[in-house]
Amino acid sequence: MAPFKFFKQVNKNFDKAAEFLSVDKGMLNQIKACNSTYHVTFPLRRDDGTVEVIHAWRSAHSSHKAPTKGGIRYAMEVNEDEVNALAALMTYKCAVVSVPFGGAKGGVKIDRSKYSEAEIERITRRFTFELIKKNFLGPGVDVPAPDYGTSEREMAWILDTYRSMVSSLDSDGCVTGKPIHQSGISGRTEATGRGVFFGLREACNVKGDMDKLGLSTGLEGKRVIVQGLGNVGYYAAKFLRQEGALITGVAEAHGGILDEKGIDIEKLKNHITETGSIANYPEGTFIDQSHKLLEEHCDILIPAALENQINSGNAANIKAKIIGEAANGPLTSDADQILQQKSVLIVPDIYLNAGGVTVSYFEWIKNLSHIRFGRMDRRYEENAMGRLLNAIEGLTGTAFKPEDVKKIGKGPEEWDIVDSGLEDTMVLAYHMLHQNARSYDTDLRTAAYISAIKKIALSYQQLGIFP
Ligand code: GLU
Repeated sequence: MAPFKFFKQVNKNFDKAAEFLSVDKGMLNQIKACNSTYHVTFPLRRDDGTVEVIHAWRSAHSSHKAPTKGGIRYAMEVNEDEVNALAALMTYKCAVVSVPFGGAKGGVKIDRSKYSEAEIERITRRFTFELIKKNFLGPGVDVPAPDYGTSEREMAWILDTYRSMVSSLDSDGCVTGKPIHQSGISGRTEATGRGVFFGLREACNVKGDMDKLGLSTGLEGKRVIVQGLGNVGYYAAKFLRQEGALITGVAEAHGGILDEKGIDIEKLKNHITETGSIANYPEGTFIDQSHKLLEEHCDILIPAALENQINSGNAANIKAKIIGEAANGPLTSDADQILQQKSVLIVPDIYLNAGGVTVSYFEWIKNLSHIRFGRMDRRYEENAMGRLLNAIEGLTGTAFKPEDVKKIGKGPEEWDIVDSGLEDTMVLAYHMLHQNARSYDTDLRTAAYISAIKKIALSYQQLGIFP
């Protein structure tokens, strides 16, 4: 097999869509090009006193909207080609769901399990410092978020470092995916997985498409295999399960579990957290070669880990009828072609995993407007409700129950506002893509790229070229 070139793969998808449009070639090249990529090396003092050189990248793909936006990942696979490809995918993703950002991505080449928490903090803060120095970070410039191998903890360190170096009223908007107590937003942690759920729910509700696949409409009883039980895979599985789907397989890096009766995702997640591995899980069948799990029978396959998981080497063996791309770039273009020929319904990454950046957008708006959505955060509902009830009792001398408070008109909570905004975005975008796919007589991925290219080209045309 030829070596995997991720950015080339993204551009292949782009070129396929561009053929449907009469956009000028120069303009198409401008849309495809990565505007700037910053590769930095910096020293890390390890806990044992030795010094190590760390490689990190940030790529800003498109300036048709500002700021640029995209996660920062910590993984050994990180390289310049990957970061550029992922930044390009962010540009197209934001355009598909009409989130007004250009695309960006960052990565630090480390195996995070080999570093202590203090070392990860030093890496994060030093990388942040380097980004600030080169004007690659700021609420109106470039706004990172969590990605593979990072979480709200790293985002809090980025915020703190930025605040220490830049005095600005809007500094909270320099990064999203922050902890709730640090100007984060309710529902951001769940957002990508929840968006995957909304997208697949819409796909499974189109009767004509399900008829063609020989499946019933709706999620009820659909057998799902998920690759990667990180943040995205876990929440996607959880919400799909809640709506009646059966999680029959979970593949992790060093093994997987197959269970036709359905896997209890909470239980499995707890087992992984407690033992550090998916092995020795007491239920279902353990599969040593987790990659083989992708080839098992199921209705929906959700690759929710890294790119290039389904390629010309295994595409022909895939038995799923629907593939939901929760990861970025999990299918190569060869695999895509093989699976399209087999009439597999592929719900593409640049639509399906856009829930994360959509809620990041809500968080950024909240930070810049300095207002809080709704009256309470759901996570603190119990405490807040308790305090509210006590206060009412203190004032009126009457003991109220939570139901009474609901009756006297509690405003919507932040989580509900975020969730309905996310649901609207995912539902609307799905039907727009579906419509596009029908009118251009093409697949959903190409339809998504067509929609993105049209919007970005219009933006560049209206902006003109400086100077
Ligand atoms: N890392 C996520 C993605 O790939 C989220 C990016 C963001 O919220 O900026 O879409």
